Amino acid sequence: MALANTSQIVVTVPEAIAVGEFATKLELPVSKVIGELMKNGVMATINEQIDFDTAAIIGAELGFDVQQEAAPVSEPQGSLKQHLAEGEGTPRPPIVAVMGHVDHGKTSLLDAIRSSHVADKEAGGITQHIGAYQIQKGERWITFIDTPGHEAFSALRQHGARMTDVAVIVVAADDGVKPQTKEAIRHAKEAGGQMVVAINKIDKPGADPTRVRQELSDLGLVPEEWGGDTVMVDVSAKTHQNLDKLIDMVLLVADVEDLRARSEGPADGVVVESHLDSGKGPVATVLIGNGVLKVGDYLVSGSTYAKVRSLGDFRSKRITTAHPGMPAIVTGFKAVPSFGDRWEAVASEQAARARVAAQTRREQAKSLGIKRIDASGLSAAISAGQIREFNVVLKADTQGSLESLAEALAVLHNEEVAIKVVSSAVGDIAESDIAFAKTANALLIGFNVALHSSLRALANRDGVQVKLYRVIYELTDDLRDALSSMLAPEVIETVNGLLEIKGVFKVTKSAVVCGGTVTQGKLEPGLKFRVRHGSEVSGEGTLASLQKDKQSTKEAFEGDTCGLNVNTNAAIELGDVLEFYSVTEKARQL
Ligand code: GDP
Repeated sequence: MALANTSQIVVTVPEAIAVGEFATKLELPVSKVIGELMKNGVMATINEQIDFDTAAIIGAELGFDVQQEAAPVSEPQGSLKQHLAEGEGTPRPPIVAVMGHVDHGKTSLLDAIRSSHVADKEAGGITQHIGAYQIQKGERWITFIDTPGHEAFSALRQHGARMTDVAVIVVAADDGVKPQTKEAIRHAKEAGGQMVVAINKIDKPGADPTRVRQELSDLGLVPEEWGGDTVMVDVSAKTHQNLDKLIDMVLLVADVEDLRARSEGPADGVVVESHLDSGKGPVATVLIGNGVLKVGDYLVSGSTYAKVRSLGDFRSKRITTAHPGMPAIVTGFKAVPSFGDRWEAVASEQAARARVAAQTRREQAKSLGIKRIDASGLSAAISAGQIREFNVVLKADTQGSLESLAEALAVLHNEEVAIKVVSSAVGDIAESDIAFAKTANALLIGFNVALHSSLRALANRDGVQVKLYRVIYELTDDLRDALSSMLAPEVIETVNGLLEIKGVFKVTKSAVVCGGTVTQGKLEPGLKFRVRHGSEVSGEGTLASLQKDKQSTKEAFEGDTCGLNVNTNAAIELGDVLEFYSVTEKARQL
């Protein structure tokens, strides 16, 4: 287990914790914790639950070492490993994910390995990122999962670790161990696979790989060259220095795992990328865990299924079969499957449908169980028409982004207004999205996706507002403002003065001329008033004009006796008190 830096206070938290409770554990004001969450793009109120990963990152930023309370060990969700009997199955390539702190060079390293080690540089294929790619070293293949980004989404990183055999932890030699480095190490350990540390950016003048080794040793990862058992390689994604050595080390540690797969029978695996293509429909990159995947097979993944229409390898070359350890591009899904979900081949369309129906029922039951405390009240209020909804259509680059957005938007509500996601899908903004947003009177939001200029013109013509974002909290800020503008303004009433009626001189249908003494405050023409008859309010009206000593005046103060011309249809009697007030409106914030 990783040892904490001894100067840090260790706090333990469960899988999920309310923000307020977390602040109490840290002995910090809750506003400080909320502020830190906001800096990291998480909008959460005091009663909202945050997951352990978020708590760990926020805690680390605030100088704490946050550890998870012991939880029951469960079978990793996305794990590809199948228990095979001794000697059963055939060897398969290792599946490798690159993880680490933002800006430490994950993308650069993946790109560097790809460009230097993928031999077949066919036109187009090489630059297309499909969620995974393969390299060949000598006789052996390695599969790299190519989705290191979206650092905000720890869910993705978690999936990333769980479907992999080897995690390459990238640490920048000029920056050292950071919160997300620790998180990546934790996920890699949880996933139970092997780990290789790539100490990156050694070409930089400020690089200090020894310091990085020291910091990692403090965490319990002692480099082999210091007598420990963690393989660490100094690399540069920029100059490509030691990339070969890194790959050799990945193969070496993968051998410890004795990676074999069942090579016959129905295929199974994990979804590593998915999107909606305007021409091809749902497209998914899947990793094959076991068996052989063929064109025409029926696959079930989560609550969708496919009859495999076409298979492509990672260079988008058409293939007819895909084998264990390979990434394959699959078309034919009915809906876009979710990143990290398992898939399995089944015998027939009928079997696929039955499985999907069962899965949908399970998901419904699960979502009832984990509903937020006030969610049932919220949906009841929506159906009762008390809540006004702000409709949005969401398009995002990946399923993981969509999940994170849905979570971030779900918290934006109060007893009057809420966001309603009328549709959400993976992929660039298409004409159909604009049409849908128009029909639903919705704001069309694109997250990390593109909007073609011709579609921008179409949206303008149709009066559909389209907003593109790359940062979650900018999106949530804007939507919070939009919702705030839908809130009924706060009405603030101020009592300006009181007057006791001493005489009623003339009464018409809609006006009264009367006189009295100001007992409190100040009267001005234009003010509204209530007629207080004993303890009752007998009517309302407006002060039309005011006289003092038979002269028209603009104001009367406490102690003044004055004549009033008021617009009212209420009966005003001797001894009544007129309570003069003014009303101002103040915009509210969600
Ligand atoms: P990621 O956020 O971990 O995916 O990091 P990126 O791959 O986007 O890299 C962050 C920045 O570091 C970019 O500006 C890269 O050009 C730079 N970078 C990455 N690797 C190296 C390296 O080995 N040497 C140098 N000098 N810069 C690097």
